[in-house]
Amino acid sequence: MPRRPLVAGNWKMNGLLASLAEIAAMGAAYDDVLKEKAELIVCPPATLVGLAVELTARGAIGLGAQDCHPLASGAHTGDISAEMLKNAGASYVIVGHSERRADHAETDAIVQAKATAALRAGLTPIICVGETRAEREAGDALGVVGAQIEGSLPADAPGTIVVAYEPVWAIGTGLTPTLADVAQMHAFARERIEARLGGGKGATVRILYGGSVKPANARELMGVGNVDGALVGGASLTAKDFMAIADAYR
Ligand code: PEP
Repeated sequence: MPRRPLVAGNWKMNGLLASLAEIAAMGAAYDDVLKEKAELIVCPPATLVGLAVELTARGAIGLGAQDCHPLASGAHTGDISAEMLKNAGASYVIVGHSERRADHAETDAIVQAKATAALRAGLTPIICVGETRAEREAGDALGVVGAQIEGSLPADAPGTIVVAYEPVWAIGTGLTPTLADVAQMHAFARERIEARLGGGKGATVRILYGGSVKPANARELMGVGNVDGALVGGASLTAKDFMAIADAYR
């Protein structure tokens, strides 16, 4: 079965009520031709997830969140569970983004627990991996990403998972790896995902590229082997740029 490309927008800690108009505009621009070619989702901050449901359903754009707690409920002030996100109308949740790994000291074990929670709740986790600049310069990029895949993916994932390769040094910097480096990393990631999940599942998992994807470079990045879509940060904040990126699949 061919893998259906996925273009996902990560709004990070951006977006007020007025920003819902951008989601409405994305839905309006997501026409039948593009729907045939690619799946689109947007991951606004948790404050907007419930409010975006009606808009995303109308435009058939999917809705995701940016993080979840490993547990379903309990005394964890300020946290949000996967079950709550599902209940609010999300279908996806990003886990293990490098900003959370750095800002909240999230380890592979924590990321794996969050991915497991997402699957338990019926959400598709988008599990992020990626090396730092220092790790790439030291020649460790493949080793780091291989270890993150081994440690962050639930071994026996009962549902669908998505993996996002996001080199940390490419996020929000305007820098991107060479197409050859992207191709090498995505082929390697597919092998490691199969080694982790087994049973041919590695061939079914969508591997997104993330890190400074823009309208100007989307086509070439999305054209690389084993790149099944994009995780887009800054350029996903406006419908104009996000839809221009998605148009790479038109
Ligand atoms: C991200 O944070 O997931 C990301 C890819 O950001 P940007 O597109 O802004 O580099």
